[in-house]
Amino acid sequence: MYSLGWRGPVVWWNPVDGYRHAFGPEEPPRPEQHRETLCGLPVTLTSPSDVDWLMPTCDSCMTEALERTENREQRQRDARRRLHDQFGTEFL
Ligand SMILES: [Zn+2]
Repeated sequence: MYSLGWRGPVVWWNPVDGYRHAFGPEEPPRPEQHRETLCGLPVTLTSPSDVDWLMPTCDSCMTEALERTENREQRQRDARRRLHDQFGTEFL
């Protein structure tokens, strides 16, 4: 399969305040960071233990993360189609 390359994660997941929330891709979550979850919750990150990762996934964050993933895939398809139009079949 042709790939336009790894462009980093769509979102990061981190357990905080009883749920696994997602965070924007700008930088990986680190303990003590003040971040806003994708569902809009301002949180201070902690160092999650193995047990923390078993917390339930936040529904709002999951919905948002799925939308971002679909948008990125759509953009990659569009980019591939443009390459195909310009340069021929090898990019499809
Ligand atoms: Zn959330």
